[in-house]
Amino acid sequence: MAVSVVLSLIKELRRTLGRENVLSAHSELVVYECDGYTIEKNRPDAVVFPQSTEQVATVVRIANEHNVPVVARGAGTSLAGGCLPLGGGVVVMLTRMRRILQVDLRNRLAVVEAGVLNLQLARALAGTGYHFAPDPSSQGACTIGGNVATNAGGPHTLKYGVTVNHVLGLEVVLGDGSVLALGPVHNPAGLDLLGVLVGSEGTLAIVTKIWVRLTPNPQDYRTLRVIFDTLDSASNAVSDIIGEGIIPAAMELMDRGIIGALEEAYQFGFPLDAEAILVIELDGPSAGLDRQKEQVVEICRRQGAREVLQAATAQERQMLWKCRKAAAGALGRLSSSYCTQDGVVPRTRLPHILRRIVEIGRAHRVRVVNVAHAGDGNVHPVLLFDERDKEEVHRVLAAGRALLEECIACGGSVTAEHGIGVEKIELMTSLFAEPDLEAMRHVRSAMNPGGRLGPGKVLPSP
Ligand SMILES: Cc1cc2nc3c(=O)[nH]c(=O)nc-3n(C[C@H](O)[C@H](O)[C@H](O)COP(=O)(O)OP(=O)(O)OC[C@H]3O[C@@H](n4cnc5c(N)ncnc54)[C@H](O)[C@@H]3O)c2cc1C
Repeated sequence: MAVSVVLSLIKELRRTLGRENVLSAHSELVVYECDGYTIEKNRPDAVVFPQSTEQVATVVRIANEHNVPVVARGAGTSLAGGCLPLGGGVVVMLTRMRRILQVDLRNRLAVVEAGVLNLQLARALAGTGYHFAPDPSSQGACTIGGNVATNAGGPHTLKYGVTVNHVLGLEVVLGDGSVLALGPVHNPAGLDLLGVLVGSEGTLAIVTKIWVRLTPNPQDYRTLRVIFDTLDSASNAVSDIIGEGIIPAAMELMDRGIIGALEEAYQFGFPLDAEAILVIELDGPSAGLDRQKEQVVEICRRQGAREVLQAATAQERQMLWKCRKAAAGALGRLSSSYCTQDGVVPRTRLPHILRRIVEIGRAHRVRVVNVAHAGDGNVHPVLLFDERDKEEVHRVLAAGRALLEECIACGGSVTAEHGIGVEKIELMTSLFAEPDLEAMRHVRSAMNPGGRLGPGKVLPSP
């Protein structure tokens, strides 16, 4: 980009937002070169911190006048390169728009700015008897705007659904800088544009405000830690439980590699020789939960579970969830860099895909460990590597691609919750026929006419 364009862009951004809300020094911009997907990097020309929808709209208009790309960014926990500033341009940070504007328990909704953290809302709702159901494992860091943009899931997606099931309305800034309010709160009839925008990864609009559905807390829980000697028996147990007609709130799997890392980091007391651990949670009215739990225990035993432990207190339950949610933090014990994949297969194909993950890792000489939202058939193979070793990075990319192609071959998809970003854009042609992709490009052109919002993401060029 011409230096004169960049200088004019920065001058105009500073004039409208104030110098303190615009970063442009090389040393400051380095932080925004990538997100949780660190294999691809590119530096933006400026990073801005708007504090209102009007300011976001002004930034988009200034970027349009200078013909530069605009990338929305929440906490930057994307694992698919959604925040990568391809072609430079402006990164719009939503993190200073972090007010919870309204909690309306009577109507079971809350209104939040896009930069509100998922955990911030959870804490604000504590004690009200309600919660916001999407609970990504990154919930301590990720924003609700980011959850909307990626249609995030989490451990409890199995029973409660993904983010789109919990969004009632949105305020967004479109690609031409105009502001639009959407959803049943505003206009109960017409096309379901809300469904189009949720999961669009910043390529159609920048989300500034969200009306979220609040879900009543379950009356009671039964939370189990089940230890297995093989991955096959753990994943067969998952399939059998659903096959029995039981829908747990969550069924999370961790393999031996993750268990080892967790033990080294936190000493939770997991047996190091276990091949797999399932964390299974049942919730709902107290009456009937014990019967369901007994059925689940019986199925796990039938599949050869070595040990079943039930959380006896709320603290023990919290500790079990802490183990699961600390898994990513423990990965640093295993490797300096890692790439978390996000494939999904029909649940009955879980044993197959977990076996293939091991084989593919071996074939590409890449160490792979696994966490999975197993109840959804959503696998997260974590590929461990050293990013300074370019040849190894190459093998990691090839192994990642092979894993996702295997998911497609199983009748699944290349993403369940992390999104396409830049990482999986080439695989979109394996999932969709060209006319389908073309239809999606038309939708993008309608909302993002110049194509400057999130260019190079989600939809491959024809
Ligand atoms: C340890 C770890 C665990 C994770 N676990 C889960 C999990 O269980 N479930 C899950 O679904 N994901 C998970 N993720 C992925 C990630 O946390 C989610 O995708 C999350 O929703 C991203 O939120 P964010 O605020 O970090 O968004 P960012 O990473 O900042 O952005 C993600 C994408 O959304 C766009 N975007 C962000 N904000 C906006 C906005 N306001 N308007 C328009 N576009 C926007 C960005 O351009 C980008 O394309 C995990 C990530 C990590 C690192």
